[in-house]
Amino acid sequence: MGVRKIDYRLCSGCGICVEHCPMDVFRMDEKTKKPVIKYLRDCQSCFLCEIDCPEQAMYVTPDREMRVPLPW
Ligand code: SF4
Ligand code: SF4
Repeated sequence: MGVRKIDYRLCSGCGICVEHCPMDVFRMDEKTKKPVIKYLRDCQSCFLCEIDCPEQAMYVTPDREMRVPLPW
């Protein structure tokens, strides 16, 4: 459900997903400097992280299709 995986071979560690996720699902791992899926249960499958990732490293499934009211 929700955000499925991060392909660390593609991920550059830019942090865009961490900044853009409206549900605050990710945390930046201080050691690897890459994001980790920390609060999967909060993911609402809004696809923002997948759409905004410049490296196409993020994979989201539409299992939880609740629409989140976005502030933009
Ligand atoms: S937006 Fe993509 S490339 Fe950037 S940290 Fe997140 S998964 Fe990695
Ligand atoms: S799909 Fe949306 S809610 Fe889920 S991790 Fe990505 S940006 Fe966050």
